[in-house]
Amino acid sequence: MPHVITQSCCSDGSCVYACPVNCIHPSPDEPGFATAEMLYIDPVACVDCGACVSACPVGAISPDTRLDDKQLPFIELNAAFYPEREGKLPPTSKLAPVLEAPEVHRRGSGPLRVAIVGSGPAAMYAADELLTQPGVQVNMFERLPTPYGLVRAGVAPDHQSTKRVTRLFDSVTQIRGFTFYLNVEVGTHLSHAELLEHHHAVLYAVGAPDDRRLEIDGMGMAGTATATEVVAWFNGHPDFADLSVELGHRRAVIIGNGNVALDVARILISDPNQLAATDIADHALAVLRTSRVDEVVIAARRGPADSAFTLPELIGLTATCDVVLDAADHELVRRDLGTATDPLTRNKLEILSKLGDASTPATRPRIRLAYRLTPRRVLGDLRVDGVEFTVTGTDEVRLMSAGLVLTSIGYRGKAIRDLPFDDAAAVVPNDGGRVVDPESGDPVPGAYVAGWIKRGPTGFIGTNKSCAAQTVHHLVDDYNSGALSEPSAAPSALARLVRSRRPDAVDAAGWRAIDAAEVARGGEARPRVKFTSVPDMLTAAANAPTPPLHQRLLAGLWR
Ligand code: NAP
Repeated sequence: MPHVITQSCCSDGSCVYACPVNCIHPSPDEPGFATAEMLYIDPVACVDCGACVSACPVGAISPDTRLDDKQLPFIELNAAFYPEREGKLPPTSKLAPVLEAPEVHRRGSGPLRVAIVGSGPAAMYAADELLTQPGVQVNMFERLPTPYGLVRAGVAPDHQSTKRVTRLFDSVTQIRGFTFYLNVEVGTHLSHAELLEHHHAVLYAVGAPDDRRLEIDGMGMAGTATATEVVAWFNGHPDFADLSVELGHRRAVIIGNGNVALDVARILISDPNQLAATDIADHALAVLRTSRVDEVVIAARRGPADSAFTLPELIGLTATCDVVLDAADHELVRRDLGTATDPLTRNKLEILSKLGDASTPATRPRIRLAYRLTPRRVLGDLRVDGVEFTVTGTDEVRLMSAGLVLTSIGYRGKAIRDLPFDDAAAVVPNDGGRVVDPESGDPVPGAYVAGWIKRGPTGFIGTNKSCAAQTVHHLVDDYNSGALSEPSAAPSALARLVRSRRPDAVDAAGWRAIDAAEVARGGEARPRVKFTSVPDMLTAAANAPTPPLHQRLLAGLWR
């Protein structure tokens, strides 16, 4: 009964460290870990101890006997990662190195104080790493009253198990030394220089909040949007609650075929009654209930072998939705299968080759994967009525009617006030997380980055664990070597400063009150019903119990 890793794998590697027999790969020290689409359990070496099940933050691991029908392909997928061995077992000793905790050399002048800006996975993993060290203080700043970034506002609502990683994050917020300053925007309410007066270092883990834009005629017309805006809309992000998503036409087109495109296409054709059991925003559910869309075309500019979606997501999609290809695209799949050698690509192509043909009549709303289509312009007068493509590498024109055109061509990082920015790569220039001046190459004292603003918008939730650990190790090295200036302000001064600038700042108790109110609104039927406006979030936060006097004094809130 070996254990099996399934679709919601977050790749953070926690299971690797928990496994006593080193049977989960690639491990964080192995080539390929950073780009791995998921991790795989070796069925021959697995001793069924279940240690990985407890360690996995997203519940992605089960014994092979407990998988449901949709998960069965993952048995073969895990096994296929390991080469034929003719009876020889892989090493069973504990080989995976546990990254050594970044040992902080304590000083008489007070604890290491770090401000983390952002509260998504990279921020939370960085806090977790720092708080392995006794005495360290982490103050986390987040623009919204709710934390956890794309786990809350990016992971699709029908992927609830992936959202379970928030339990791990909630536990980080309860470690001594952690303080939340939610609803506080660094760059508006507090400056970088002010944060440095109160901390030894400021670590930005602000993600990539913008979208890459497709510069073709017609984008911006009514009926166009980006897929990431739609993701934020159906996830109840307050900035996108009023997005107009028009589903009155039978076809929607998504340009680009990464995992975000798959998420959006799946939600657009899902049965609203099933979505009603998730934490999808009510406003999105209401629009989806009136939808006339019965085909979502995901159009890629390259061929099937270069599909940007990952294998686990393709397996998950084809297990739950009708997915079809045109005859010409099936031909492209056969052609690519004839030449592809990489096992991962071959595996994707094998799945694509077994999909239905678009010429067969649809029995329910479905997704069509289309290839070698380069978008040329969006058609329409006042609002979208289609897209004009060329067949990639030729002048041959293809027209496709549609009432909604979404680009899904990737996220894009945004410049941070007072820090350098590499506009081409849309990241903050850095060396292993230390922000560097692009002219001189010298480190910018006290400034660090982790996550997408450090390495660009790639990878999965768990990829941020090793990314954040690298940054934290460098930060602690700099602290230990005396390269970081002592903060000029006393630790207790920060809370007063924040309250003076942002009386509506929300603390961890406020977040817990919002969380509890959302879960209560969900009742028996739904995991939660989210608040989608900041004032509603603040009203719920105000119901947090007042901390006892001694805690308020400690937190410097008593004025
Ligand atoms: P992505 O994986 O980078 O895919 C971008 C897509 O846009 C590719 O198909 C790309 O095609 C296409 N594209 C780029 N420029 C284009 C242009 N000018 N014209 C036409 N097409 C263009 O981006 P993403 O889907 O936004 O995902 C971002 C990251 O989040 C990825 O690492 C993804 O795996 C991750 N994510 C994971 C999950 C999950 O695990 N469930 C869910 C969502 C997101 P080319 O390949 O030809 O450039």
